[in-house]
Amino acid sequence: MDADVVVIGAGAAGLAAARALSGRRLRVVLLEARDRAGGRVWSRPTPRRATPAELGAEFIHGNAPQTMALLREAGAASIDITGEAWAKAATGALQPEDRDFAAAGAVFAQASELPEDESVERFLRRFADDESARAAAQRARDFVEGFEAADPAIASVQSIAAEWQSGVDRKSARPFGGYPPLLELLLGACVASGVELRLSTIVRRIVWRRGSVTVDASGSSGAQIVRARSAIVTLPAGVLRHAGGDGAVSFDPELPRAKRTALQSIEMGHVARVVLLFRTAFWERIAGGRYRDGGFFSGDRQPFGVYWTQLPVRSELVVAWAGGPRATALQARTPDALVELARDGFGELLGEASLARDEFEAGFTHDWTNDPFARGAYSYVAVGGGEARAALAAPLDATLFFAGEATSADGQGGTVNGALETGERAACELADA
Ligand SMILES: Cc1cc2nc3c(=O)[nH]c(=O)nc-3n(C[C@H](O)[C@H](O)[C@H](O)COP(=O)(O)OP(=O)(O)OC[C@H]3O[C@@H](n4cnc5c(N)ncnc54)[C@H](O)[C@@H]3O)c2cc1C
Repeated sequence: MDADVVVIGAGAAGLAAARALSGRRLRVVLLEARDRAGGRVWSRPTPRRATPAELGAEFIHGNAPQTMALLREAGAASIDITGEAWAKAATGALQPEDRDFAAAGAVFAQASELPEDESVERFLRRFADDESARAAAQRARDFVEGFEAADPAIASVQSIAAEWQSGVDRKSARPFGGYPPLLELLLGACVASGVELRLSTIVRRIVWRRGSVTVDASGSSGAQIVRARSAIVTLPAGVLRHAGGDGAVSFDPELPRAKRTALQSIEMGHVARVVLLFRTAFWERIAGGRYRDGGFFSGDRQPFGVYWTQLPVRSELVVAWAGGPRATALQARTPDALVELARDGFGELLGEASLARDEFEAGFTHDWTNDPFARGAYSYVAVGGGEARAALAAPLDATLFFAGEATSADGQGGTVNGALETGERAACELADA
């Protein structure tokens, strides 16, 4: 045996699991396909150190107890999001907007009374002829596409309703200085307690039976075999669903039907996210300072539905965001074309296209959809898949344990905190077994 436990994937879930296990004096090998840890948490340093360019996760959603505890332990802090919201009205002018999604919550509350699950698209059609409810229904659709990065024609309305009812607080914050302190803390703790981290090691096959796991992988120095008594699999649902090609992982024997069925109901949402770095925060100066405290700028007809600044931190960095079908529509663009489109869209929204071009310094983006080790941004549940996350999370034969955001069944699927929590949960399940 090379180890007691092999952990597959060094994202938030894998790092949290490895750290928890190493504290229990188990020999842990952590295998990661990329040449870095962190997975879908990936920060690029910028010249403005307080605001790194987050290519993946940026926000802390809700109370996020694991995230907050780790930030505290790292001596870092979180900072609540502030800033006014501006939306492009039919007249073409930016008008103050109420970004409170409570109205969407009220719409989703009605979905829990449906006799059967249905798609968000179908559910929202019920409100089409009701003038008083139309705006709230649109808010609900914006939430599903923008936050969940989901396709309303596929997403389960009852799962979204259940998430709203789970009491997850909708408030958002950011780790001050980005996610790097949290990742460094986890990595440092793993290394210090003897976890053997192997980067650039792509897992191809997991052969398992009760009490024994053999992992075939390929690393920079050729084929590798790792033997352990058990494994924690933190592969993204997109990778688990992907039957062939780079990053695909096969199981021998194959995963039981319950898991395969669950995976069919866990979709990966798509996101186009561009970080724009400008020479100055020019939007604070234009229109007599009207947008000085602007946090969010949105426009229905824009390829990117929304842009946000870093308020309350004053910075020259702006994020352009498109989720769900809007992101899919942008898929064919090259990274450079996407950056240009984001820059020009921001300028047009503000009525300052040429100023935005003059002020532009750099843009950063990453294609998570075509990334073979992610295959999408984060997961959501498709129609009829209410129990899918729990089914994916269930251990097999006290030998294979499952973690990762897609296995979070308490309303935190798709988030960093969901991933951290499931990593700790899987480590406990394994230790108990
Ligand atoms: C653009 C974007 C924006 C987001 N914004 C937010 C946000 O604001 N707030 C928030 O809370 N969450 C956000 N998320 C979601 C959040 O990043 C994820 O939920 C979380 O990071 C997932 O962690 P994980 O450990 O489950 O998966 P991952 O981080 O994906 O970790 C899995 C690991 O497995 C590795 N792997 C894959 N295939 C193989 C293989 N064959 N062999 C070996 N290793 C393999 C991967 O490289 C990866 O490191 C965002 C995600 C994206 C993409």
